[in-house]
Amino acid sequence: MDASAQIATIADNFIDGEWVSEPDKMPAINPATGETIAMLPNSSGETVQAAVRSAKRAARIWAAIPVFERSAMCVAIASKIDERQEKIARVLSMEQGKVLGEAMGEVAKAADGFRLAAELVKQMAGQTLPAEDSTKLVMTLRQPRGVYGVITPWNFPVNIPVEYLAPGIATGNAIVWVPAPTTSLVACELMDAINAGGLPKGVLNLVIGEGAIAGDAVVIHPDVAAIGFTGSAVTGKRIAERGAGKPMLLELGGNGPVIVFEDADLDKAAAAAAGGAFFNAGQVCAATGRVLAHHSIAATLADKLAEHARAHVLGDPFHQGTTMGPLNNPKVAAKVLEHVEDAISKGAKLLAGGKPRPDLGSELYFEPTVLSGVTRDMRINREETFGPIVPVLAFADQAEALDLALDSEYGLSVGVFTADVSRGMEMAKAIPAGIVNINAGSTYWEIHLPFGGGSNTKSGIGRLGGMLTLEAMTEIKMITVTLEGKAGAA
Ligand code: NAD
Repeated sequence: MDASAQIATIADNFIDGEWVSEPDKMPAINPATGETIAMLPNSSGETVQAAVRSAKRAARIWAAIPVFERSAMCVAIASKIDERQEKIARVLSMEQGKVLGEAMGEVAKAADGFRLAAELVKQMAGQTLPAEDSTKLVMTLRQPRGVYGVITPWNFPVNIPVEYLAPGIATGNAIVWVPAPTTSLVACELMDAINAGGLPKGVLNLVIGEGAIAGDAVVIHPDVAAIGFTGSAVTGKRIAERGAGKPMLLELGGNGPVIVFEDADLDKAAAAAAGGAFFNAGQVCAATGRVLAHHSIAATLADKLAEHARAHVLGDPFHQGTTMGPLNNPKVAAKVLEHVEDAISKGAKLLAGGKPRPDLGSELYFEPTVLSGVTRDMRINREETFGPIVPVLAFADQAEALDLALDSEYGLSVGVFTADVSRGMEMAKAIPAGIVNINAGSTYWEIHLPFGGGSNTKSGIGRLGGMLTLEAMTEIKMITVTLEGKAGAA
């Protein structure tokens, strides 16, 4: 059965509490078949203007709603997402390409994200501060920033938006959200569930279109106070320039090494590194971008990784038994092939996979792949591949492992496997990444924990996760009250 054909979807913008169609259209493509499944809005700058006007009106009203009511709204939204879990997950699989089981998990986590924001916003505290002037009572309040622009990618097109939408709504911001064009149908489903929770009009507006047009119009709009962006380093840099002066959360790319020392449990290291490379067909910012292995165990580890690769079942994301679906779009598929070809032409050895599989239904299927004998100069080591590929590089000693880890423009997440936790801690402290997991892969993270890129790397600015996102989406206002006598000083 072609399960995807059964799914009816909305394909419009959502502005000021209404579904609104756009005259200019672009196709939504099913990556598993190459078929056009809907026509989406290709929104203009004027549509963004309308969305920002709506958000600006709503921002004042929503900010004044008591925190406990905004919290209750997030709980109601979470219930609507739970009720529609399967429908949203089916659209997610159909449009993104991930297997249905992974899609179900992603939607469940999105509901959790709203519940977490609902809890945390009730705990968000200001301060009272001592002052030299004893007549002053000094306090700080956390206030919403106003209209928040949110621009999101296609790899986790439900979870990543929720990382901003839930804390943004909970803290009293109004939002204009531009999702990635190749996963905008599922954005409509998520928008519909959020709206069903009872959100007042204008608090969340969805504008579908090309990033360079609709996204850019949000970034440069003078009434958009702040930006939350997850996507590539190249686009992040452009947004930082175009929106200069606005507070920004930028969550960008990675090329996370998983470093495996000779004393590590190789079965556990291989399972974690393979999991981090093949989950979501490798389209994960914190993926196992490369494996750095001590030379004495590199061949054994590479063989174990190849076994994991061969155990995958590549195919239609809706078919029972499929463990990996197609890549999401032609751009990422072309890069994956280029990186594999570049590595092989420079001497890497192919242990598993290595080819596109158009016979499976579209040009976007790519075999889970393991390469050994990878060296520094290869693109697969230097750049983010964003596909189901594990390159294995060998190192002589800890100093060389550290040098290979540091020789990267990225600094998002790292895994270190060793029986010597002190050595793991030395590595963790020395690598300028946002996350280092000792005896776990680079992908381990939970939504209440800090996530983001290391300073002076291409992996981003700021931290998402739990209270950190709520803090980033609000600003501190200091208020002083002058009192009679000495009643004020804390
Ligand atoms: P991308 O940068 O091409 O696109 C991301 C979003 O930006 C899309 O919605 C796109 O339409 C929009 N966009 C494109 N040009 C724009 C412009 N000029 N102005 C405003 N918006 C614009 O990235 P992608 O290919 O969609 O996503 C993959 C990238 O995202 C990878 O590099 C991955 O590592 C990164 N990512 C990072 C994290 C993280 O948390 N650090 C999480 C997931 C993905």
